[in-house]
Amino acid sequence: SIVVTGATGALGRLVVEELLRTVPAASVAAAVRDTSKAADLAARGVEVRRADYDRPETLAAALRPGDRVLLVSGSEVGRRVPQHTAVVEAARAAGVAQLAYTGILGGPEADFDLAAEHTETERLILASGLPHTLLRNGWYTENYTAHLAQALEHGAVLGSTRGGRIASAARADYAAAAAAVLTQDGHLGRAYELSGDTAWSLAEYAAELSRQTGRTVVHTELTPEAHLAALTGAGVPEPFARLLVDVDDAIGRGRLAGRSGDLARLAGRPATSLADSVAAALKSA
Ligand code: NDP
Repeated sequence: SIVVTGATGALGRLVVEELLRTVPAASVAAAVRDTSKAADLAARGVEVRRADYDRPETLAAALRPGDRVLLVSGSEVGRRVPQHTAVVEAARAAGVAQLAYTGILGGPEADFDLAAEHTETERLILASGLPHTLLRNGWYTENYTAHLAQALEHGAVLGSTRGGRIASAARADYAAAAAAVLTQDGHLGRAYELSGDTAWSLAEYAAELSRQTGRTVVHTELTPEAHLAALTGAGVPEPFARLLVDVDDAIGRGRLAGRSGDLARLAGRPATSLADSVAAALKSA
């Protein structure tokens, strides 16, 4: 089977949708920690397997010999190394045919704090000797458009990127690339640098919001200290706010601007543009 972990999450669901366009539902398995959230997938013929990164016994039962597995990186920052270790060990014990992993753009070159768990996971995967594919995902455009309402309300996009550019793509684009490596041959032992086709700055993002809404939205560049205060003031827990400020510093150093073209090549189409992502977010707002 083609097994997708985190299949009830935003990215995982999109990967399952992409897979269902090209392979029979019976060959797709959704590996999820809460099977009740996957009832809709089961109703469509997708096999649902319980797989909790914190419960190795569920992972042993969820992964089978010959499976092609996508490990969607966990969402609990700080806990991901033991969680991913458990998945890699279960994959090795099962003898899976492929372990694909959603890491971070740049792989070992990604020197910001949020990337550390991805770097360590890649190291574990390489050390495991498993047939693997590394999907080094850049930023989701949705990281920004999810906060579009606040940007419009305040007429400002805040950040501390120092004008750095972001080659983001939509989650659906990363999902299409992941589905491609899981369904096609020729992707074992490869690392793909996945990102959008165009890199934009926060000032350009603010200008795009203005253009599409007719309202005035500006980019306000903050010092890291002021950015941290703005995030915590808006209710972001301080440890996570620190990680986000650190990411903006990395953006200032160009770490999320890379454009290798791998995503468009794997997806077989251009990545979703910033303008189209903004339009989609405005439509659903
Ligand atoms: P979501 O939070 O929507 O999905 C995360 C998935 O991981 C969910 O399905 C969740 O399960 C699952 N999960 C979390 N903990 C466990 C666990 N202990 N055992 C099994 N499954 C678990 O995030 P996205 O889909 O948007 O993103 C996917 C991943 O990409 C994130 O988890 C994160 O690692 C990374 N990411 C990347 C970003 C980028 O811009 N490139 C931005 C943000 C995150 P459940 O459905 O039950 O909650």
